[in-house]
Amino acid sequence: MELSGTPNVSSLVIGQDRAVASLAGALKADRLAHGLLFVGPDGVGRERTARGLARGLLCDLRATPNEVTPFGCGACRGCRRVDSGSHPDLHVVMSDAEAVARGLGDKDGKARPSAEIKIDAVRELGLRLLRRPYEGRASVAIIVDAHRMNEKAQNALLKVLEEPAATTVLILIVPGARAVLPTIGSRCLRLAFSPLTEPSLAAILRRLQVPDADVRAARAREGACSVPAVMDDGDGSLRPAAERLRAGLLLKQLGRDLGERLRVAEALGKDRLEVEAVILAAERMLANSMRARGGAPPEGAELDEVKALDGLSQARQDLRSNGAVQLVLERLLCAAAPSVLEQRR
Ligand SMILES: [Zn+2]
Repeated sequence: MELSGTPNVSSLVIGQDRAVASLAGALKADRLAHGLLFVGPDGVGRERTARGLARGLLCDLRATPNEVTPFGCGACRGCRRVDSGSHPDLHVVMSDAEAVARGLGDKDGKARPSAEIKIDAVRELGLRLLRRPYEGRASVAIIVDAHRMNEKAQNALLKVLEEPAATTVLILIVPGARAVLPTIGSRCLRLAFSPLTEPSLAAILRRLQVPDADVRAARAREGACSVPAVMDDGDGSLRPAAERLRAGLLLKQLGRDLGERLRVAEALGKDRLEVEAVILAAERMLANSMRARGGAPPEGAELDEVKALDGLSQARQDLRSNGAVQLVLERLLCAAAPSVLEQRR
C-alpha cells in the first residue's frame, strides 16, 4: 500500500498487505467492526496501521463515496490533524509509563509511572465515545498495548464494547489474541500482523532514512522481523525521542558520582531489549557528537569519550551474550569513570 506525498505514518505501513486489504474491503463495504484487535509482535506496524485507519475514517473526502481509501487522502485538514495528533475525534490511550517513554507525560514526578492502563483512563474514554464526533464522521479510539489494562479497566472497556455508538471504532493493539479477556476478544474482529520480511524491513528503514550501518546493526539485533524502536519514527512517533532522552541521561551519568550512577542503572530497568536499545542510542549519540567535533575533546568534560564508546559497545555485546542486565549496566557505569571511583574509595 503506497501513498504519495510527504512521508507520514501510514506511508510506513509496509509488509502487512493482508491486514490492510481486509481493512480496505471492510471500509469500502461500510462494514467495519466497532471493535478491532490488532494482533502481532512489536515494531511490525500495528499502531502505524491503526493511526492510518483513523485517518481513513476521519478524512474529509470520506463523504465522497468514490474517494474512499483505507488511510485517507493524506492532504485534507482531517488527515493532517490525525497525523499531527490533534484531531478531536481520535483518542489514544496508553499507560503512564508508555506516555512518559514517548515524552508525552510528566517526567518530574518521583514515583515510577505505572505500566498499567487503569480504570479511570478507560472510563474517561467511554465518556468521550458517548459524545457525538466533534467534526469527523466517526470517533476512533486506539488503545496502545491493550493487554496493559488491568482487570477492572478491561471490564470497564467491556461496557463500551457491548453498546458501541454507531460511529465508534475501537482499536486494541495487543501482542496476542489471548492478551485480553475472552469477553473482549470475542467482541472484536481480529487482524493478524506478521513479522516483517527482510525486504519490507529494509524498505521501511530506507524510508526512515536510517544509515546502512544502523540497518545492519538493527538486523543483527532484531532478527530482521521488526522495526527497532530506536529507529521507528512512525509507530508512535515519539518513542525514539524518548529513547534518545534516556540515552542522553545514560551518557550524562557516565561522568557522575557512583551512587548516582548506580541509581541510573536501576532506573534503566531489566528489560534486555529495551536496555540494549538505549545503549545503542547512546553509542550513536556519542559517536555523532565526536564526529561533529572532528576528534577534538569536549570542553571541561570529565568523560573519556573513546573509553565510554568502548564500554557501551562492550555492554551491548555482553547483553547479547546473555549477561545479567543489571550487572552489565553497573559494569558499564562504573568502568567508564575510574577516576571518580578511586576518589570514592
Ligand atoms: Zn483526507
